[in-house]
Amino acid sequence: MSKIIDGKSIRDKELKLYKNRVDELKANGLLPCLAVILVGNDPASRVYVNNKKKACENVGIKSLEFALPEETSESEVINLVKTLNRDIGVHGILCQLPLPGHIDKEKVINTISPMKDVDCFHPENVGKLFLGKSHFVPCTPMGIMTMLKYEGIDVSGKHCVIIGRSDIVGKPMALLMLQSNATVTVCHSKTSNLSSYTKQADILVSAVGKAKFVKKDMVKSGAVVIDVGMNKDETGKLCGDIDFDEVKDICSVITPVPGGVGPMTITMLIKNTITAAQAQIN
Ligand code: NAP
Repeated sequence: MSKIIDGKSIRDKELKLYKNRVDELKANGLLPCLAVILVGNDPASRVYVNNKKKACENVGIKSLEFALPEETSESEVINLVKTLNRDIGVHGILCQLPLPGHIDKEKVINTISPMKDVDCFHPENVGKLFLGKSHFVPCTPMGIMTMLKYEGIDVSGKHCVIIGRSDIVGKPMALLMLQSNATVTVCHSKTSNLSSYTKQADILVSAVGKAKFVKKDMVKSGAVVIDVGMNKDETGKLCGDIDFDEVKDICSVITPVPGGVGPMTITMLIKNTITAAQAQIN
């Protein structure tokens, strides 16, 4: 039986540290503030935004919500971002994705000041991340690195296999693991014979978005398995990319869904917001 990583308990420990940092900033007259833009009525996005606001409240960060109707124009969203860029009381800005189809996500992201880009999506920050010089790190990959650290799992010298190459999870995950001296393989939908790679993984990260996609015959005995996926199973219940019931018996460590990577992602958003606030006083 493998060890199940408790993302919520790591989250709680991290948030305690961040609360202390926020208290120190407040004592120095600075109230960190995160502005969240939500366009439209996507129910999943509403849940994510509510969770982000709750996490802010937990540590004493001020959160501003801009919930705009579905029909808001691209230029209205961009003008709001520009106003928030100029507002010295706002330290972090995020635009909840996905945006409605008539709004170009790239144009909006590229308008966010790189200094306030707490999701680390702006091309300037992505470039700095590539060079290992970004002061922000994308939340989900940073959350995973933090979890591994808590569990005493050193990625140096390990073979890390990542399934998925998205800009927000797979690619930055590969960079962070490479920067921590892992040997990294990135797989995707065009990878031939996927399981020949996944079976070599000392650490396997799955960010595909397909329920129970990774079966036990794809995993090496004793591997560390990190499940980023957030999917619905056949009964409508939240589940990951990993077939947890099968895989848990052959790996050494595994993250559950829910309660694994998800809570860490929001925690890292709080960390980036504090970093943004600190950088702006410096
Ligand atoms: P995405 O942009 O859709 O990327 C999915 C990746 O999986 C793509 O690179 C795709 O390959 C690859 N893929 C699809 N089918 C495959 C297959 N049969 N074999 C191998 N690779 C395959 O998704 P994402 O934004 O990275 O998110 C992935 C999952 O993580 C989703 O379930 C999402 O909800 C979840 N997520 C969770 C958190 C969290 O905090 N827990 C945060 C972010 C995302 P191609 O590039 O070739 O298309």
